[in-house]
Amino acid sequence: MANQKNGLKRTRTGKSLNLVLWFSFSVFALVVILVYGVVQNVLIHKQYREMAVKTLSEAGKKMLQVSGSEDTVIARKLYGIANEYGVCLYILDENGESVFPEYTAEGNYSELASVIKGALSDRESTLIEGQKEIAFGAKTSVSGRACYLYLALPDGTLGSNVGNFRWMSMLTGAFSVVLAFVASGFVAMLITKPVTEVTERAKELSRGNYQLNFKKDYYCAEITELSDALDNARVEISKADKMQKELIANVSHDFKTPLTMIKAYASMIREISGEEKEKRDAHAQIIIDESDRLAALVGDLLDLSKLRAGLVSDVKKEFNLSEEVYRIANRFDYLKETGGYQIQTEIEDDLYTVACRERIEQVLYNLIGNAVNYTGADKRVIVKLFRRNDCARFEVYDTGKGIPPDEVDAIWDRYYRSNKTHKRPIQGTGLGLSIVKSILLAHECPFGVLSEVGKGSCFWVEFLISAEETEEDKNPKRKREEV
Ligand code: ADP
Repeated sequence: MANQKNGLKRTRTGKSLNLVLWFSFSVFALVVILVYGVVQNVLIHKQYREMAVKTLSEAGKKMLQVSGSEDTVIARKLYGIANEYGVCLYILDENGESVFPEYTAEGNYSELASVIKGALSDRESTLIEGQKEIAFGAKTSVSGRACYLYLALPDGTLGSNVGNFRWMSMLTGAFSVVLAFVASGFVAMLITKPVTEVTERAKELSRGNYQLNFKKDYYCAEITELSDALDNARVEISKADKMQKELIANVSHDFKTPLTMIKAYASMIREISGEEKEKRDAHAQIIIDESDRLAALVGDLLDLSKLRAGLVSDVKKEFNLSEEVYRIANRFDYLKETGGYQIQTEIEDDLYTVACRERIEQVLYNLIGNAVNYTGADKRVIVKLFRRNDCARFEVYDTGKGIPPDEVDAIWDRYYRSNKTHKRPIQGTGLGLSIVKSILLAHECPFGVLSEVGKGSCFWVEFLISAEETEEDKNPKRKREEV
């Protein structure tokens, strides 16, 4: 038994939502951080270079304008500018001897002097750009001695600054990746937890537990919506389940009664009335009537199940609804003579609609038939059809007991009968209104019932008037005069 249970259980395929979300978020964060890092590195290199060029050029220009009578005054001014711009200053003579600062320990910068000389060629000043470094060189003179002014960035090379920045950005990036991994896991869990909760409940529902409540305010609106939708499904499924049980109980009862009678009367014919023509005919008639009831019930059940399952592919065509209503109402004419019924008609001429004629005939027949069945002692039924805006409104009134407000919704459901002992001229199967509802829903026609207990009911349907209706149709009088 346990094996069988396990065999029915579907093994879970695919990856867990939690894992998928966590992985996707992490990859996304990683990509964002990488792209940001690359862009930053490229930009920072460019920006840092621009800033260095600007600083060196401005400081150099200012230094070249410095003048004074004494070397010490000039030196102070030059160092003041170097401090202001945060650059390193060297003044070398043509041989590379340091003029300022005179006391520099390194002594000779002949190599640097020749680099500056080469870079300057005929120019007065220039930017000296290496692959990693950038500096400013210019011709100047101190105490009549031709010199080179050389300005460089304080911590050596442009590359080392960018390199430092790269390290920092890599560290920040790595920290952000770890943070993104943790945050992704948290967000994934936040989304997955309610989904798992709803799934668990849905599983319970599939096991037939209709008591649980899905409704809950979740953090994500979509999951709240999903739980609301599942709750509505739960209500509908439990209703359908209840109805199915009722249907089976009622149908088996309704099948059993005529079958018992058919069997009983057939036995009576065989054993008692077989020789007496009058009795035998009466008993045979009962068998025929009961068989008809069974046939009607089976027919309605088949119709309903086909309609519900959407297996009916009816062809919709334009037809004269007014004529149809008139024709169906006339089918009850025999009751005027045999039962004293009054079936009054107020039908506006030539209202056309597009629908499946046979199905609409079924709707009209069932609704008028019910009005006849349930009308009051005066046996009056009024059938109306008139134009209202774009619609042809069909109404059928009776003067019966009406329908209590708490039963109004239930009458459209399968196999609802408020009073099974009600005597009626037309045999019903208890499925009439369910068939009406299925057909009208398939045709998207609004319908309903207005009822007052003790006064009677009005069942109504609105059919969309077809667009092809001609001017003549709208003006029936003119049409008739012309005819
Ligand atoms: P049936 O008439 O065969 O019982 P229907 O599906 O046509 O089945 O109707 C379902 C129930 O709705 C009826 O049993 C009756 O209780 C109620 N009903 C239908 N039409 C009317 C009406 N015109 N007036 C009062 N009750 C009605």
